[in-house]
Amino acid sequence: MILMQGKGVSKGVTSGPLYFFRRSSEEIPHYTADDIENEKSRLAQAQEKSMAQLEALAEQCRAEAGDESAVLFETHAMFVEDEDYVDCILSALEEEHCNVEYAVGQAGEQFAAMFGAMDDEYMQARAADIKDVTRRILNNLMGVVEGGIDSEEPVILAADDLAPSETLQLDKSKILGFITQGGSGNSHTAILARTMGIPAICGLGDALKQSYEGRTAYIDGETGKVVLEPDELTLQSFREKLAKQEQMRELMQTMKGQEDVTLDGRHIKLYCNIGSPEDVSAVLANDGQGIGLFRSEFLYLAASDYPTEEEQFQAYKSVAEAMNGKRVIIRTLDIGADKQVDYFHLTKEENPAMGLRAIRICLNRPEGFRTQLRALYRASAYGKVAIMFPMITSVWEVKECKRACKSVMAELTQEGIPFNPETEIGIMIETPASIFMAHDLAKLVDFFSVGTNDLTQYTLACDRQCNDLGKFFVPHHPAILRALKMAADAAHEAGIWIGICGELGADLSLLPTFLAIGIDELSVSPASVLPLRAAIRESDTRACTLELLEQ
Ligand code: PEP
Ligand code: MG
Repeated sequence: MILMQGKGVSKGVTSGPLYFFRRSSEEIPHYTADDIENEKSRLAQAQEKSMAQLEALAEQCRAEAGDESAVLFETHAMFVEDEDYVDCILSALEEEHCNVEYAVGQAGEQFAAMFGAMDDEYMQARAADIKDVTRRILNNLMGVVEGGIDSEEPVILAADDLAPSETLQLDKSKILGFITQGGSGNSHTAILARTMGIPAICGLGDALKQSYEGRTAYIDGETGKVVLEPDELTLQSFREKLAKQEQMRELMQTMKGQEDVTLDGRHIKLYCNIGSPEDVSAVLANDGQGIGLFRSEFLYLAASDYPTEEEQFQAYKSVAEAMNGKRVIIRTLDIGADKQVDYFHLTKEENPAMGLRAIRICLNRPEGFRTQLRALYRASAYGKVAIMFPMITSVWEVKECKRACKSVMAELTQEGIPFNPETEIGIMIETPASIFMAHDLAKLVDFFSVGTNDLTQYTLACDRQCNDLGKFFVPHHPAILRALKMAADAAHEAGIWIGICGELGADLSLLPTFLAIGIDELSVSPASVLPLRAAIRESDTRACTLELLEQ
């Protein structure tokens, strides 16, 4: 039996074959090729494979969203066979006797630079397309699979850690659970696992070896244990836990359609966190009563260039419509720190969590901000959309955000485009400054939503990505709970509601404290909705105390 101990970051037990994530490597091999004809034939095969993939993608888009959306993939297919591009690759093979990967990489760089230097904005934007096409051909040459998983059956996905943009590309239907060498409970792999309602374990370190690929692993997201070749006793206890999990799932189904109300009649808004329109199906399946946090940056992370107003509008509208009149809180772009987007060309920072991120980028780049706000207001005509600004520290920031909203509303009115002028505006409370300024901030907005992931990191001075802080990283720290109380008091004094959209919101052991503090909304991963509903329905606010705030 091989036992690995990590940190459970998403509950549940499962078993399945281990599969290591194949990263589309940045490193392109370079060597002298003896057989140039062989390199040419590898190129032809990779082109053929790329064409087939692009045709399938165009076909899928056509079926799901109409002809227009398929244009991108049709353009990419044209690039794959573009005479100048292919000639450039072939001449490098002939003249430099290099391997085909290197020739393709060089051609891609040359063409991207050429497009990037053009005056016409449209042509400049094609640089991103040529990079994308080049990456596709390279992946096909190097055997890297899109979606990261080349397996017919679902797997337990193993990795060192996954970047947010990598988690986006995964074929989620193939994943039973995640195990990673690094990462932390707040990493985006963990957040994704909780959204999907599957187990995840991080921080396994070197114990997780690539040579385990293909072997059946038994993982427990509660205890953080990963077992290969379990002995009889371990296997038996795993099976018992699995059976209990199934029973619990069935029991939780009875919570569907029930009200989120405590025994003493307090109603709680029980909402969900999502990262993309596809996640809405999980929200509906788990009977979430709204979306408390749509992390819009995932649209940016998934793209190779700035998503247009129209693309964003379609994404927001689809969520608003699917939620059918229930509140959908869309957070404006929150990139920077651990969420890096190449085409933003952000300056490298020593300490990016404290650098130019989130609302700071938006306020520094008003054009991009305006594009997103236009898309959000347009979507507001199709459901109960609310807009939320992240990483607020100052009153002036909120005032400037609101000015930007007003100016977008004026534009849309002038253009005769429908929108909801009563669209609610909220802010995330996730910096200590926003706690201290809560009374002033509350007068400016319709709601507060506490981002406990960042609030914990900034209040305790504990990097949310770091897995080694051990006893110093205390999510239940009274400082965090007191901060919550201060924000809640300020919100209620100003007559607005307050929710929690950070991961702490799903912590059942803190529910009585949240109720005592007066939290009005909890926004959690879809899989946490029904267990939380069951707990809310068994709670009596009159018996809830603030004792955890003392120490
Ligand atoms: C948070 O900080 O708690 C939050 C919800 O936002 P994110 O995790 O996306 O930073
Ligand atoms: Mg945050």
